[in-house]
Amino acid sequence: MSPSIETRDPRTDTVIALVPEMSPNEVAAAVGRARAASARWAGSSFEDRRRHLLRVRDRLLDSAESLVETICAETGKQPSEAVTTELMAVCETIEWYARNGAAALRPVPVAPGTMFHKRPWKEYSPLGVVGVISPWNYPFTLSMTPLVTALFAGNTVVLKPSEVTPTVGLAIGELFATDEHGDIVQVVTGGGATGEALVRSGVDKIVFTGSAATGKRVMRAASDTLTPVLLELGGKDPMIVAADADLDRAAKGAVWGAFQNSGQTCMSVERVYVERSVHDEFLERVLSETRRIRQDDSGSGDIGSMTFAPQLEKVTAHLADAVARGATVALGGNRLDRAGLWFEPTVLTDVDHSMSVMTEETFGPVLPMMAVSDIDEAVRLANDSQYGLNSSVWTRDRALGEQVATRLEAGNVCINDCIVSYAVTGLPFGGVKESGMGRVHGSEGLREFSHVKAVLGQKKLPSMREPWWFPVPVHMDRLGIATMRLRFGRSASTRLKGLRRN
Ligand code: NAD
Repeated sequence: MSPSIETRDPRTDTVIALVPEMSPNEVAAAVGRARAASARWAGSSFEDRRRHLLRVRDRLLDSAESLVETICAETGKQPSEAVTTELMAVCETIEWYARNGAAALRPVPVAPGTMFHKRPWKEYSPLGVVGVISPWNYPFTLSMTPLVTALFAGNTVVLKPSEVTPTVGLAIGELFATDEHGDIVQVVTGGGATGEALVRSGVDKIVFTGSAATGKRVMRAASDTLTPVLLELGGKDPMIVAADADLDRAAKGAVWGAFQNSGQTCMSVERVYVERSVHDEFLERVLSETRRIRQDDSGSGDIGSMTFAPQLEKVTAHLADAVARGATVALGGNRLDRAGLWFEPTVLTDVDHSMSVMTEETFGPVLPMMAVSDIDEAVRLANDSQYGLNSSVWTRDRALGEQVATRLEAGNVCINDCIVSYAVTGLPFGGVKESGMGRVHGSEGLREFSHVKAVLGQKKLPSMREPWWFPVPVHMDRLGIATMRLRFGRSASTRLKGLRRN
């Protein structure tokens, strides 16, 4: 019998359930079941997969209320947050791939270049079995997004949900367990050791969402078997407020971006750089918006409790470090006087990059604001980070917004908004630097779960030998030079208008 993990409701600090901490043998058995289901699923048409996944979405909608309850009980979220950022986000992803997935996986012809008598193309085929390891902050979305994408691409999946939110993972398993393709999704529960067993189990790809520190461990373990990895890691997302911004909108956006889900979003606004001329006015608006946040435990507030006790300790440590180095707590700064993991939305000023709150991921309800002399300084500070996940710039000047977007070192940028680029499923999502590698969402996301195979066919079966075969023709060198001059020489180049497809 496996040892058990206790899962708790962070709103009240009470025990919810005990789930097994699965051993490497149990993980191997789950991978074996997914492998056995793989041949049939990989051989199914895209239309069959689409039908199946739309049926899963119907079941999701039928059980929406109980899923919301399960998510809120393990994370402390408000039901409104669970509905929009978990269930609706997943429905959107299924919809996008149902509509666009077949086109993204269709074979693509490629220009033959010098091999003008050939017919080259790219085609996409499933990888096999994909291991998905997910975190606790969006336990439904961040498990289901890679999972359904892998399935659309023809793979089967073994999911290892976070040990903090395993019953959400088990509920996902139930959505898939009920019909003819019951084995295409396997769920294994447990902590880091179970996750590592999955990484080492011989799956064909690992999709890991979690902290950069664990991501490095996953990549190291995966290197032993050369298992490819897609890593969705942490962030320290900057927000830049230009002097000409709509300050009311920017303040509302900053407060929502920093405090929704109690700041436990990889794309939370984690630091704000605001031009000095509007800093004080912007701060006033931020403070007044923050005071209006309803943080009650009735289930109808704006934000809920935090999820994970060690995360609350990290928030407290970042605040203490910032204050010790000269920061001012303009609002909040304390744990609420009630059971569970409740922390006040907190606004910090007088911060700089000597403080951990400006350089390390805080992942809690903290909004540090720094005055800068101009946009160039803001961009320089925004890029002064080991992370590069999401980012935002707020200005009324469209050209300035687009220039800053181009200069920010991040996988995603929002102009006059924050976080919600993720909600546009057609846009690829992922990080640069230590925020990860690989993309989910969009065509790029689907192709992450596919082998791309290059096929070189013939226009028609040629009767003659290829010119480079043995014996090499006597004047092959001269022929080669003549061919190069014809194709790449100055006269050829001047004939080119714009960029060539090749
Ligand atoms: P974590 O890294 O502690 O754990 C993530 C998962 O990895 C869990 O399921 C855990 O059991 C598993 N795990 C732990 N050790 C492992 C090992 N050695 N091998 C394999 N698996 C192992 O992260 P967390 O605390 O659950 O989540 C918060 C972090 O996730 C934050 O840093 C946040 O920014 C990041 N995150 C990133 C994204 C994104 O899309 N980029 C989204 C959400 C969260």
